Amino acid sequence: MLIKTIEEVRALVREWKKQGCSIGFVPTMGALHEGHLSLLKQAVAENDRVIASVFVNPTQFGPNEDYASYPRDIQTDYSLCQSAGVDAVFHPEPEELYLPNRATTVHVTGLTDVLCGAKRPGHFDGVCLVLSKLFSIVNPDRAYFGQKDAQQVAVVRRMVRDLNFGVDVIASPIVREAGGLARSSRNAYLSAEEKAAALVLNRSLSRALQAMQSGERSADLIRRQVADQIAAEPLARIDYVEVVDFEDLRPVQGPMTRPVLVAVAVFFGTTRLIDNVVFGPELEVR
Ligand code: AMP
Repeated sequence: MLIKTIEEVRALVREWKKQGCSIGFVPTMGALHEGHLSLLKQAVAENDRVIASVFVNPTQFGPNEDYASYPRDIQTDYSLCQSAGVDAVFHPEPEELYLPNRATTVHVTGLTDVLCGAKRPGHFDGVCLVLSKLFSIVNPDRAYFGQKDAQQVAVVRRMVRDLNFGVDVIASPIVREAGGLARSSRNAYLSAEEKAAALVLNRSLSRALQAMQSGERSADLIRRQVADQIAAEPLARIDYVEVVDFEDLRPVQGPMTRPVLVAVAVFFGTTRLIDNVVFGPELEVR
């Protein structure tokens, strides 16, 4: 079922809840790939009913970012959702979600000052605004997010906790292409040369993980090694390379004693890619 209006989603969810069904929700911007499909399949396996949203959210793009050119193909996305077993796809027009005189913002402090939040001012305000709206429209039991956007997971968890949305935020591992490149809708922008060059991200992060697994605990050394390996790739332009605390996203000072997130954002041509790896004595997400 392809749904365009908030009213129809509310009516459907009311019906499902009346039947006592648990509801899983997977928010996406479309151009669906294997990364999205793994979230959809997990949601289908863990819930009685699943709703996905396909919405290129204008409020999370900066003025010089790719909102206008972001790939859009709702028919293909809808078929993929159907074959994954999704019950309903919410695909609103921007005007359905955003009223011209809206006056409310949603801002998570602290966690959004670093990494992509520092590089993309306002991005997480847009993410939090749209997810607040979608959570209150869909009212799901569980919402599924990719660990590829590790900062997004941390920010959304905090927002859900602080605002009592009553949604279980579930993070799924990064899905990669055969060569190791993290799947992303933006990979479609890469030339063949840029795509080959972008393999350096996974290569350098995998080496960092191996080093940490072998006992390396200097965050500074890990950060420098990853940055040096990426900088050696002529087509790569580093936006950031950071080693931060997995939970509060603060830069790690001194030796690692708690789980860490090694996160990178790198331009290949005009395309900005992100990737990360998590390491912790009792926690490892890849
Ligand atoms: P997007 O459509 O880019 O907003 O992504 C929608 C959801 O899919 C987000 O929770 C992403 O983190 C997740 N996602 C995107 N790419 C991947 C990937 N390669 N592996 C796992 N999850 C992903």
